[in-house]
Amino acid sequence: MDRTYSKFVIFRISLLLIKASEKKLSVVEKTIDQIEAEAAGELKKALDKDAVEALSIKYLGRKGIITRFLRNISKLPGHLRPEAGKQANAVKKSLAAAFNETICCMNSNLTDESDSIDVSMPGRPVKRGGLHPVTQIIRTISDIFARLGFKIVEGPEIETDYYNFEALNIPKDHPARDMQDTFYISDNLVLRTHTSPVQVRVMEKTPPPVRIIAPGKVYRCDSDLTHTPMFHQIEGLVVDKNVTFGDLKGVINTFIHQIFDPGIGLRFRPSFFPFTEPSAEVDILCVICRGKGCRVCSQTGWLEVLGCGMVHPALFENVGYSTSNYSGFAFGMGIERLAMLKYGVDDLRKYFENDLRFLRQF
Ligand SMILES: [Zn+2]
Repeated sequence: MDRTYSKFVIFRISLLLIKASEKKLSVVEKTIDQIEAEAAGELKKALDKDAVEALSIKYLGRKGIITRFLRNISKLPGHLRPEAGKQANAVKKSLAAAFNETICCMNSNLTDESDSIDVSMPGRPVKRGGLHPVTQIIRTISDIFARLGFKIVEGPEIETDYYNFEALNIPKDHPARDMQDTFYISDNLVLRTHTSPVQVRVMEKTPPPVRIIAPGKVYRCDSDLTHTPMFHQIEGLVVDKNVTFGDLKGVINTFIHQIFDPGIGLRFRPSFFPFTEPSAEVDILCVICRGKGCRVCSQTGWLEVLGCGMVHPALFENVGYSTSNYSGFAFGMGIERLAMLKYGVDDLRKYFENDLRFLRQF
């Protein structure tokens, strides 16, 4: 049946119904389209949730306009009832959806305006990256030596047998070349076991005076509480006219007092290295027990921090420096060991496990 025609018929019949029945049925005199239009108009003017809910009751409630319209369809002639019911139900459904959507929209607007802009809320913390403690201590050491006029240089981590051993006065049969300690890549190539080869490389290229430090990674076949297969060293070298052991002591004293505390006791103890003569090891007063004796310092009260000495004349000869005009001193230290003592860490391997709980403390 044509929809316009049927609506017209429903409308006409509704009018008749009204006339014939009680006053409360007066709504039926309107067509379902008119009811829908009015409801939409009222919904547009509704300012808050309560107003929309009131409209919902007015139109869709138990005694609402649409509900009453539906109830009165039974009074229509039989052949008109299905179409009238279909139309009224469609309008009921679309009005219900419109009311719900409006309420939903009002709720989300409320959320946007009040909840998310709470100026008293603390901000979300921004996680910052940080420098590894080994990097931090390399920078601290480099800064101290830079202030003393040292230049920072680097050298290769894969070295030839010549630079790692021979040029440093460590001949083929020297115990320092023990297969247990050195990672050999081939007969002639090794992972450098110390930063000392940088001394030779610098002296080969630079005429004296020389004043450098060389921080970097070194490798040895060793792993326990105080050793890791890869660790860091800093090498220092000074060559000039009239450089004495007194200059060496002055530089080391200044350095130790700046990296640890200015009042810390230190001593030079005679030692041996193939590339220095005379050689010494430097101990600081134990940072844990202050000299009384404890487990960390093996009850001696002292902790070894670096090795040093006057450059062996054999090295000068290897690089073509005049041994009669020039003298020099060199020193080398393990950075992780220094960091262990400075920060009181008892296991060197912790620096390389990348446990953030450990690293964040620095
Ligand atoms: Zn101690």
